[in-house]
Amino acid sequence: MVLISCRNCHKVFKKEDYKPFKCDSCDHTVRRRVKDSLQISLALVISALLLFIPAMLYPMMEVTRFGLNESSTIFEGVIAFLNHGDYFIAIVILTASVIIPLTKLLGLMFIFISLWIETPFKNKTKLKMFHFIELIGKWSMIDIYVVALLASTVQINEIFNIKGGIAATSFALVVILTMIAANRFDTRIIWDE
Ligand SMILES: [Zn+2]
Repeated sequence: MVLISCRNCHKVFKKEDYKPFKCDSCDHTVRRRVKDSLQISLALVISALLLFIPAMLYPMMEVTRFGLNESSTIFEGVIAFLNHGDYFIAIVILTASVIIPLTKLLGLMFIFISLWIETPFKNKTKLKMFHFIELIGKWSMIDIYVVALLASTVQINEIFNIKGGIAATSFALVVILTMIAANRFDTRIIWDE
């Protein structure tokens, strides 16, 4: 007799063995381990890391002012705010668009690699790291709000046309892929020998 809990709704079942079955309260297929969890999460993290490059190098916003095109990358934006003396906004943008997503991606990558290579970290530490990454993930979207907010405040002043650049699309994809990677990762793998 084994006790198995549904990963989706946490209902606990008493079963004879670890054969997959359908949860009767949420219809989720309960498996011993999520199928190909590590491979898929790893592929998503690598894709997100690659997309992070255009997110940094290409313009985040394209501003058309009186027919003139101006565009700026995240770093140019941060520097512009610093020159303006808006240190708080500069720090918020830098944290939300560079520090948080990179911490998440590198943290996940570290956990995945540590499943293959011996590290001095305990399984519990890895699990805590994972939960921390899940927690800060909720704040990654701040940057999108900042851009949206900025667009709306600037548009009031003059005849502006602001639209998201290639970096905005790449950045949104980075955030979404990281979220799916974390969600798709079966933390029980950490305990497998
Ligand atoms: Zn369930």
